[in-house]
Amino acid sequence: MGHDDCIFCKIINKEIPSAKVYEDEHVYAFLDISQVTKGHTLVIPKVHTKDIYNTPDDVAGELFARVPKIARAIKKAYEPSGINLLNNNEKPAGQAVFHYHIHILPRYGKEDGFDPGWTTHDDAYTAEELQRIAENIHAHVK
Ligand code: 5GP
Ligand code: ZN
Repeated sequence: MGHDDCIFCKIINKEIPSAKVYEDEHVYAFLDISQVTKGHTLVIPKVHTKDIYNTPDDVAGELFARVPKIARAIKKAYEPSGINLLNNNEKPAGQAVFHYHIHILPRYGKEDGFDPGWTTHDDAYTAEELQRIAENIHAHVK
């Protein structure tokens, strides 16, 4: 089983070795080979889905349900000062492996190597514009 040429399917099937953190019927979690910070973990569904757009609700449900306990385990193991979650979808957003995955990134202070590069624009939109944007997105929810 597994998607041809998908590196994460090969990891699930043990065709490629990995440092396993957690595994059950639905989910596999393992250390990212390029550790942004110590304990940087990837959580993936055992079913191959490409990205968030293509991930069915039940697959996402099982996947996200595992994230808190893995995060708690990382917190206990290494006592990071915080944890960020990250999920890149599509190449321009930084997705390099096209098997859906959530990064769990333990934080060890501001200069720990992870920089989300987040710039806030508090007054970029009026309240009315925010309403219109929200309605536009809402209209597309299926
Ligand atoms: P993306 O950029 O798609 O969000 O993240 C893909 C991640 O997968 C990268 O952080 C990369 O280091 C990791 N990765 C790619 N190939 C392998 C591999 O063979 N083994 C492991 N453990 N991680 C990998
Ligand atoms: Zn896959």
